[in-house]
Amino acid sequence: MEKASVVVIGGGATGVGILRDLAMRGVDVLLLEQRDLVNGSSSRYHGLLHSGGRYAVKDAAAGKECIEENTILRKIGKHCVEATEGFFIRLPEDDKAFEEKWVEGCRKVGIPAIPISPEEAWRLEPNLTRRIQSVYRVPDAAIDGFRMAWQNVASARRYGGRVRTYSEVVAIEQSNQQITGVKIKSFLTGAVETIACDFIVNAAGSWAGKIAGLAGIQVHVQPDRGTLLAFNHRLSSRVINRLRPASDGDIFVPHGSITILGTTSSPAESPEDNLPSTQEVLAMMKIGEATFENLGQYRLLRAFTGTRPLYSADPSAKGRGASRNFVILDHAKDNLTGFASIVGGKFTTYRLMAEKMSDLVCRYLKITTPCRTAEEPLVEDASPQLLAKARQYFPAYGTELAASRLGAERLEKVVNSMEQDPEKRQLVCECENVTLAEIETAAKDSTSYCLSDVRRKTRMGMGTCQGAFCIFRSVGAVDSQNLAWGQSTNDLLKEFLQGRWNGIRPILWGSVLREMELTRGIYEGMLNINGVIDNETK
Ligand SMILES: Cc1cc2nc3c(=O)[nH]c(=O)nc-3n(C[C@H](O)[C@H](O)[C@H](O)COP(=O)(O)OP(=O)(O)OC[C@H]3O[C@@H](n4cnc5c(N)ncnc54)[C@H](O)[C@@H]3O)c2cc1C
Repeated sequence: MEKASVVVIGGGATGVGILRDLAMRGVDVLLLEQRDLVNGSSSRYHGLLHSGGRYAVKDAAAGKECIEENTILRKIGKHCVEATEGFFIRLPEDDKAFEEKWVEGCRKVGIPAIPISPEEAWRLEPNLTRRIQSVYRVPDAAIDGFRMAWQNVASARRYGGRVRTYSEVVAIEQSNQQITGVKIKSFLTGAVETIACDFIVNAAGSWAGKIAGLAGIQVHVQPDRGTLLAFNHRLSSRVINRLRPASDGDIFVPHGSITILGTTSSPAESPEDNLPSTQEVLAMMKIGEATFENLGQYRLLRAFTGTRPLYSADPSAKGRGASRNFVILDHAKDNLTGFASIVGGKFTTYRLMAEKMSDLVCRYLKITTPCRTAEEPLVEDASPQLLAKARQYFPAYGTELAASRLGAERLEKVVNSMEQDPEKRQLVCECENVTLAEIETAAKDSTSYCLSDVRRKTRMGMGTCQGAFCIFRSVGAVDSQNLAWGQSTNDLLKEFLQGRWNGIRPILWGSVLREMELTRGIYEGMLNINGVIDNETK
């Protein structure tokens, strides 16, 4: 039977943060995730590294946590953060009295909010509406959730931390009011097995109530739906927030060559209630046009929905009315020793949440090693020598992208493979500059079981073509590796395209519809993945 001192349930930002923290303190720790990493909210979000400005009026404590963690993550996770900065803009219809409270709130919390003139704002961001009344610069940034998760795991693995994906926790085992282990079911084979452990951390986000329920404990988590839109264009260089109380569709976050606009807020039926609707898309476009009047001219890439894991001791507080703060619940108080839940919070504060939870676990295990996650970078920078070597094989822009995606250790493996075999230098994904060598390395990782797993590790298929021209190449790359999961190529293509379809269905008009027809022509017409042509012949 597999054993671990501590089992962490949930491979979102909170879970991988705890995995890394505990591994760095010398704890024998295993993370279990029911699907692939960042299957939940940690990839279905704006990707905004909050300055705290959003919370400055309503929740000073949350604002303070954000600005402090923002400063730390820029340092330890610099390859996951794009230091865009942000604007808070007030339009004529936004309350002037709120602006005064907001300026005072930022001052009290310590968020630098620097006023600039609308003319200066238009000089820096020419696409912004001319109706701006006031503008402030804040240290908002963009953060890549996929990369952050994988770099936490890479770091944890260096310290002996272990990860098992596609392993759903289906039972919590206890004896004499003490945790003894978990039962897991493989999503891929259906096999059930038990893993013995002394302590369980429930970091299952919107599913945390369900996990606590497996142990007979009530934890009230109300998942709250939020839908976001991805555009094929970087509308602004900076994050753009409306200067008004938090509302639907009022934050634009630039990421590389695209922009994300979000979000709505409505109670979710379950954590899996994550299919976006056309109604939500149209409502957000309308609100977004107040900030960028020409918004309708840009091509939508996809819509996606996540659920906020809102915890409330008072179940009547819902949606934006519920606190965004996190809580740690030690279930020793519910007469079960060796079990704790962490719920609520934000991506921006994941490291702090992990530190507080790991402190509790270490007190229980009588480990006194202090937390070091605020000081030690997630990945080492590539050396100038390694970068110089990489530049011989990558396209110019691709070297920097790959170096920040992979970190020194994995970049070295990829570069060595490209050095030994010139074929491996081919670009499989042109939008994101991903080479054959990187696709093969990601496909061989013990946590890869389908093309979407490779996509999340490499960003293959996440650019403006949304995979239309790189999925079939990736399938070829995976197939040539003779991996157990890479044999059924039609199924690989279908899994990837179905994932894409979920995000495209609610925006199927204009150029998106034309592009979908092109994709259908390639995959159904030329590659016949549904076997329609064979059936017609018969
Ligand atoms: C629309 C939206 C926009 C947001 N924007 C931002 C933003 O811009 N900035 C910011 O800081 N925050 C933002 N947030 C909040 C942020 O996304 C979340 O607070 C954060 O990602 C939660 O991380 P988590 O690890 O706690 O949960 P999750 O990321 O949901 O992870 C929980 C994991 O547990 C796994 N799991 C569940 N059940 C089991 C089981 N039985 N066995 C094994 N694994 C299991 C799930 O598969 C999942 O991967 C946003 C949230 C939403 C919904």
